[in-house]
Amino acid sequence: MKAYVLKGIRNGIVKEIDKPIPAHDEVLIKVMAVGICGTDGHLYKGDYASPYPVIPGHEFSGIVEAVGADVKHFKSGQRVAADPNIYCENCDNCKQNRQNFCFDFKGLGGKVNGSFAEFMTIPERCVFDIGSLSFTSAAMAEPLSCVLHGQDNARPKFGERVLIFGAGPIGLMHLQLCRYNGALQITVVDINEKSLELANLFNADYVVKSDNMLAENLKKISPLGFNLIIDCTGVPSVIESTFSFIADEGRLLIFGVCPESSRISINPYEIHRRELKIIGSFALKKNFNIALDQLFTEKVKVEPLIGEKILLDDLPETLEQFCGGLKIMVYPNGFVD
Ligand SMILES: [Zn+2]
Ligand SMILES: [Zn+2]
Repeated sequence: MKAYVLKGIRNGIVKEIDKPIPAHDEVLIKVMAVGICGTDGHLYKGDYASPYPVIPGHEFSGIVEAVGADVKHFKSGQRVAADPNIYCENCDNCKQNRQNFCFDFKGLGGKVNGSFAEFMTIPERCVFDIGSLSFTSAAMAEPLSCVLHGQDNARPKFGERVLIFGAGPIGLMHLQLCRYNGALQITVVDINEKSLELANLFNADYVVKSDNMLAENLKKISPLGFNLIIDCTGVPSVIESTFSFIADEGRLLIFGVCPESSRISINPYEIHRRELKIIGSFALKKNFNIALDQLFTEKVKVEPLIGEKILLDDLPETLEQFCGGLKIMVYPNGFVD
């Protein structure tokens, strides 16, 4: 089969490799659609430690090709997507329902081979039926699950003013869910005018270009600051700057993934005196089914978030030029809906 193999930092090729064989508890999936995540870009650039060679890709959907001997709930031909965070369910964290901190956590497309390939395997416990949902929409279930987890951690309350940095697919899903969760006013900041137009399409109350007027413009929108700030940029300097926009008792959700070795400086006195809260969010946790339901019922709309559509052979060049923006969707077995 064909796969995109990352052999080292900034060194990936599409090549023929052996088709994987599912272990007793695994499902072999023919990958139909797979989104490129910011994490894939970081992996490509070597921002995190990762064992090479590896096949990246973790936001996918496909068709069951074959199943291992002990697989009970799936059969070939079934349309599926999967939670790519492989947890063990046996360690002390998993037993306390904290699967995203599993001691044996294996992120698909990071520690183990992922979905930038024609076929891939994953344990049955991670797999979900997608019914008649399009493969493209189902490939958005993973990023949406992560956003849902972030919303659970920092849940906007009724009447709150929310400020979102970054109007890429993640920021725009947060925008939709903040509205759903009852935020009073949602402001979105980005450097890219096109992204801000999309934020308008999703009914942001205010969109603000990030330029040297930013602080002044945000002050006009919410003079007392914002109750919840969500960073979806993963840019340390942006995160550092957000403290001047948080209202007293406000919360900052660090959602975008910063480089592993990055540092910011904060004023602990300010955190104390203004009762600020800094909240993290890592991956997802047992909410993949909710994401699929939200996609199926179109409570969260993802179609406008999809940009370029490419084939596996286009991946080396696309990853070299990757710099965020709309979701790029890859179709390893040819274009489908
Ligand atoms: Zn992702
Ligand atoms: Zn575990």
